[in-house]
Amino acid sequence: MSSDSIKIVWVYPDLLSTYGDQGNCIVLERRARLRGISTRTVHVRSDENVPVDGDIYLLGGGEDRPQILAARRLRNDGGLHRAREFGAVIFAVCAGYQLLGTEFGGEEGQPVEGLGLLDIRSGRGEKRAVGEIVGDVDPALNVPRITGFENHQGVTHLGPGVKPLATVVHGVGNGDGTEGAYADHVMGTYMHGPALVRNPGLADLLLRWALKRDELPPLPESWSERLREERLNAVLS
Ligand code: GLN
Repeated sequence: MSSDSIKIVWVYPDLLSTYGDQGNCIVLERRARLRGISTRTVHVRSDENVPVDGDIYLLGGGEDRPQILAARRLRNDGGLHRAREFGAVIFAVCAGYQLLGTEFGGEEGQPVEGLGLLDIRSGRGEKRAVGEIVGDVDPALNVPRITGFENHQGVTHLGPGVKPLATVVHGVGNGDGTEGAYADHVMGTYMHGPALVRNPGLADLLLRWALKRDELPPLPESWSERLREERLNAVLS
């Protein structure tokens, strides 16, 4: 990676891409380019090898069975693990988040082996969590309140190797009052929205991690601010 170019890898769009999560790619590309940082995005289907030279890897949500298939293929492929060893940023949503953990619940609740890239373990909850979600982000990350929507059966237990991404203000998230998890530059969340469209602060955090920069020049935020305000007001007012 050079300091003014990043490679984004959109992992398994054929299995993991529900609720417009591909918008996360688009917003990263746009926010990088507006700052003069060139981007190259590769869409890697589940019958292709995951390249190891990406700077940011994105995984989206998925139905139960595609999620199981994706976990199996990613484990056999090993590319995501190697990229992580090289210091790549990984950002995963919902099914993608769960499968980064050591274990998640399959369609009948059976335990399925995950990738072990995050110290989390997911199972099936009693009730499906559907609706808007709002969270206050770990102050260490310096990102404003996050908003998204969730639609999942899974509940997620965080191990000592990760920190919660946020504390839930509204919604369910992991199921214990926290939402998402991160360790080093690997982060997962239950938030669709798409998450990085609704939360440009989170998008910029990933870009800063990838570029190894403490700061990025600010951008005009008219549409994203309106969207955030509208969504936050819808659940908190
Ligand atoms: N299948 C997982 C669950 O229900 C993930 C769902 C999703 O990605 N929206 O918990």
